[in-house]
Amino acid sequence: MALSDYRILKQRKSSKKSKILAAGVYPISVEWNQDEKQSIIKFSDGGQAPGSCVHCINPPCLEYAKDEIELDTFKEFPADRAPEVCPTKAISWPQESDSPIIDSEVCISCGICVSRCPVAAIYLDPDKTTAILNDLPNRYFLLQNQEVSETTQKFLLEMFSQVSESGIFISEDDDILQRFFDKFKSVATEQKHSFQFPNHLVRNLMLEVGIKALMRRRGDTNLRMDIVFEQSGGRSGTCEVELGGEVLDAPRNLLDNVAVLVSRYKISKDSIIPLIVTLSLPNRRSEYWQVIKDIKQVLDLRINSLTIGMLVLLVWNRIEISLDSQEILYADSDMYTLRDKFERILGRELNITEGYPGFMESQK
Ligand code: SF4
Ligand code: SF4
Repeated sequence: MALSDYRILKQRKSSKKSKILAAGVYPISVEWNQDEKQSIIKFSDGGQAPGSCVHCINPPCLEYAKDEIELDTFKEFPADRAPEVCPTKAISWPQESDSPIIDSEVCISCGICVSRCPVAAIYLDPDKTTAILNDLPNRYFLLQNQEVSETTQKFLLEMFSQVSESGIFISEDDDILQRFFDKFKSVATEQKHSFQFPNHLVRNLMLEVGIKALMRRRGDTNLRMDIVFEQSGGRSGTCEVELGGEVLDAPRNLLDNVAVLVSRYKISKDSIIPLIVTLSLPNRRSEYWQVIKDIKQVLDLRINSLTIGMLVLLVWNRIEISLDSQEILYADSDMYTLRDKFERILGRELNITEGYPGFMESQK
C-alpha cells in the first residue's frame, strides 16, 4: 500500500497505547517462514524480531481506504462499498482493547488481514486454522503509554513500506486445505453472516491478489451481476460467485452480464473478462463444462473459472495475478483441470493430491 492510503478513517479510541520503533534502527526485510509461522523482521543493527502491532491510527487490517474500493470504469455501478477487510467479521477492535483482536472461532485463515498489516504483526496458524495477532512488545517494537502522533506513525509505516518481503504465509498440503474447507463451510453456514458474505469474501480476495473489484449492492434488482472488476491493462471483467448448487446457472448469467456491460457501459465485448468463482469446480458430468465450451465456440467468449481455494492459495503465497490474458484460467469439457495453469502462476508444483475434491480439477 502507498503511504497516502493510510488516510484517517476514524479514531478507534480517544487515547490508546501505541508502539514506536527503537531509536536508531530501521527495518531491512520481512521474511515469512511457514515453519516459524510468525514473520521475522531483520533490522539495521543485525538483530531480528517478529512483527508486533503498532496500533495503527487507521488500521488497514480492519478497513479499506475509499480509493481501494473505487473503479474508474464503474463509477455508476450500484456497488456495496463495505470497507470491512475481514469477510467473516472475525477481526475487530473493541474499545477496551489496545489492539485489534481476532475471533479464532470465526476466522477462516484466508490471510487477507495478514497481507494488509504493514508491520507483519498478524500471522496464520495452519494447525488451528486461524490468524493470530502478535501484540507483544520486543526490543524493536517499544510500547508507549500514550498514543503517538499521526506523523510519527506515518514515518514508521513509511519505513516498512520500503522493506523487501519474502516467503509465504502457509505452505499447502491436503490436511491444511481440508481444515480450511471444514472451517469455511461451518462459518459460511452460520446465520449470523450476511447475505453478502460470498460476494464480500470474493471481492476482498480479488483485491488482495491484485484485481480491483466492486460487489453489487444488496437488493438492487436492476443489475444482478455479483462483482465487476478492472485490470491494470485496461480490461474489465464481470464475475459470478456461486458457492452452492447454483453454479450451473453461472455461465448463462455471465452472458446477461456481458450484454449489460456492452450495452449500458459501452465496453467492447472483446475486452470483457468473464469469471466464475466457486467453492469447488463442478464434476465432469455436469453441463457446466459443455456450456462453457459452447459459449466459446459460438460467441468467442472464454469464461475463466476460479475456486475459493485457489484465491486463498494466492494470498498465502503472496502472489498477485492479472486476468488480462483471455485464457489464463480457462477450462472446458476438453480439459477439466486448472492445475497446470495455476502451477505456472505459482511458479512451482502444488503439494496437493491430484483430484483433491473440486479444488483444482473437476471430479469424475
Ligand atoms: S495488526 Fe497491523 S494493521 Fe492492524 S492495527 Fe496492528 S499494526 Fe496496524
Ligand atoms: S485471516 Fe481472514 S478470516 Fe481471519 S481475521 Fe484475517 S481477514 Fe478475517
